[in-house]
Amino acid sequence: MNTLDTFNYCELLQQLPDPAFVLTRSGIYAAIFGGQDSRYYHDGSDLIDKHISDVLMPDKAAWFLQQIEIVLRKQTMQVVEYALSNQDVKGLNNSDGPAETIWFEGRISPLSFNISGEDAVLWVATNRTANHLLQEQLRALSMTDPLTELPNRRQLDPLLTEYADRVKRYAEVVTVLTWDIDHFKRVNDTFGHEKGDEVLLAMTRLCRQYLRRTDWLIRTGGDEFVVLMPYTEEQQARLFYQRFCAEVAKLMIALKIDGLDIGVSAGMTVIGRDDASNKAIVNRADQALYQAKRLGRNQLICH
Ligand code: GH3
Ligand code: MG
Repeated sequence: MNTLDTFNYCELLQQLPDPAFVLTRSGIYAAIFGGQDSRYYHDGSDLIDKHISDVLMPDKAAWFLQQIEIVLRKQTMQVVEYALSNQDVKGLNNSDGPAETIWFEGRISPLSFNISGEDAVLWVATNRTANHLLQEQLRALSMTDPLTELPNRRQLDPLLTEYADRVKRYAEVVTVLTWDIDHFKRVNDTFGHEKGDEVLLAMTRLCRQYLRRTDWLIRTGGDEFVVLMPYTEEQQARLFYQRFCAEVAKLMIALKIDGLDIGVSAGMTVIGRDDASNKAIVNRADQALYQAKRLGRNQLICH
């Protein structure tokens, strides 16, 4: 039977697809195996006998040492995720590995033997950049409305939480305005869905023109939108609505839409320090919007 000799084991370790680092408790690279494909990893061979802080910037080095300490204390394998860019690594030569930030999954196991009198761990680092980027893309897609490319309803709740928090902590004034296109169905029914899409897009562009960069415009449904306006009093928000609304008729003429009575109804509310939930805030703005519709449309009601 063929048995593996030491030489074979050395080669096997070198051929491991992902780099495996033996790191001591104090942060010395005692050995490095594998990860030789420069499409995925930088050459780590000159790390041996160096200290983590010789190689990594202080905050990253401290984080690495902390992980080693956790694994040695718990005596179980830990899985961690981290990013390393060229800025994090001292003296990296861009030509011998990827130039962009690499996202790693690290699997760190305690070793049962000492190295030069120190406890040590085995740190296997797997390049997960492709997965990470895909996940980020999916996340962005799930939070964005495909037609208008505006944030969608999924972003409303976390944003409201953030701004309601600012209202409570720093007494900031934040106004929430919900608007809905009047008689929008008539556009679809008269000119078709494609024209409807064109109107939706043009309306959101027009709305955006009258908002500040710090304001959020969110598409919450078909022809319904929410505007979140930080540092904005009721009076300023009214002004925004008036300016936006005043241009809708001109926009319809430019889009060759005539006689359909397209306008914008809106409901507005200011986030209160005692608002119990995001739902309470949205409900108040929605109730104001329904009232605007009931009272004849193309107007703003504040609750
Ligand atoms: P109201 O004045 O009461 O708001 O009536 P409305 O005609 O605007 O109708 P409503 O707001 O109740 O319904 C909105 C319509 O918008 C219903 C749906 O067919 C249409 N719609 C929803 N999403 C889209 C879209 O992405 N594109 C197009 N073209 N139409 C859409
Ligand atoms: Mg509508």
